[in-house]
Amino acid sequence: MTQLVDNFQRVVRYVRISVTDRCDFRCVYCMSEDMTFLPRDQVLSLEELALVAKAFTELGVEKIRLTGGEPLVRRGIEELVEDIGRLEGLRDFAMTTNGAGLVKQARRLREGGLQRLNISIDSLDEERFKKLTRTGRLQKVIDGIHAAKDAGFERIKLNAVILKGRNDDEILPLVDFAREEKVDISFIEEMPLGDVSEHSRAETYCSSDDVQSVIESRYRLLPTTETTLGPSRYFRMPDSETRIGFISPHSHNFCSTCNRVRVTVEGRLLLCLGNEHSVDLREVLRRYPGDIEALKSRIIDAMVLKPEKHHFTTDGDVQVVRFMNMTGG
Ligand code: SAM
Ligand code: SF4
Repeated sequence: MTQLVDNFQRVVRYVRISVTDRCDFRCVYCMSEDMTFLPRDQVLSLEELALVAKAFTELGVEKIRLTGGEPLVRRGIEELVEDIGRLEGLRDFAMTTNGAGLVKQARRLREGGLQRLNISIDSLDEERFKKLTRTGRLQKVIDGIHAAKDAGFERIKLNAVILKGRNDDEILPLVDFAREEKVDISFIEEMPLGDVSEHSRAETYCSSDDVQSVIESRYRLLPTTETTLGPSRYFRMPDSETRIGFISPHSHNFCSTCNRVRVTVEGRLLLCLGNEHSVDLREVLRRYPGDIEALKSRIIDAMVLKPEKHHFTTDGDVQVVRFMNMTGG
């Protein structure tokens, strides 16, 4: 089988596919309050998204994560999950979601072959949760987490972006919540994607090392070499099944082991989160509808563009003009 190998001998085995740029939340670090979303004809259809997923699995990709925007607001997401869930060669099929739609959708997604869920939750305080997400309701997300457990999802992982002065006093409560719920949790450093006017990123920056020392004030953290093929570094606690992960694009650069590419909902193949390089897959999809070989060939040719590393800094400058909801977090 042809494999996807870049110029730095990294083999691409993981693709994140964004299924929509839309969302029912407006998280302050991800979107501005007034967002304009893409017109429908610029967005890949469900059939096109399924073909992209198939092409990647035929090129050695073993892990697919669906993301967005909010994947659960895309109409037909259940059918797309079923189509992708059937692909041969796929070993790990996951989704990142804000969790608000899980009460309704978790069971069908699990039955469709989705294996793992990452659910974002940045605060356990109703008021603050509302402030951070602008439109979200905490209880709906907590009910969503329970629905996902009931539907049989294993190793559910919570994602929390920690911002100094906003929710950095919730690090321990979030860890305790994860322990009680018997789920994993990853803490994410804020990335400079899109120009968010709501706060200054230089002031809110909270490094993974800061988060780690807060956790270590209460719990012993044991480093592990476990990986989910993603960027998280994992730790275990001696008295719990919960794993603690850190996603640290700034403080612990993870580029050297990067095995990931992303596809935006417009069908742009992004070779690196922190660079503007991209290759247009939508153009091939629409010029040669249903032609998987043409699509694979465009993907193979794109590999030489994968840069060695990203160039994020913490000085608050926007280095990539795409918003996270366009990038596919
Ligand atoms: N809507 C889903 C969700 O919130 O989980 C999936 C898409 S969201 C863009 C994916 C992840 O990216 C979420 O965990 C979110 O907290 C994170 N995220 C969004 N903007 C970010 C930023 N500027 N820096 C770091 N993480 C960010
Ligand atoms: Fe929506 Fe996720 Fe972005 Fe929040 S982080 S606005 S839930 S896409």
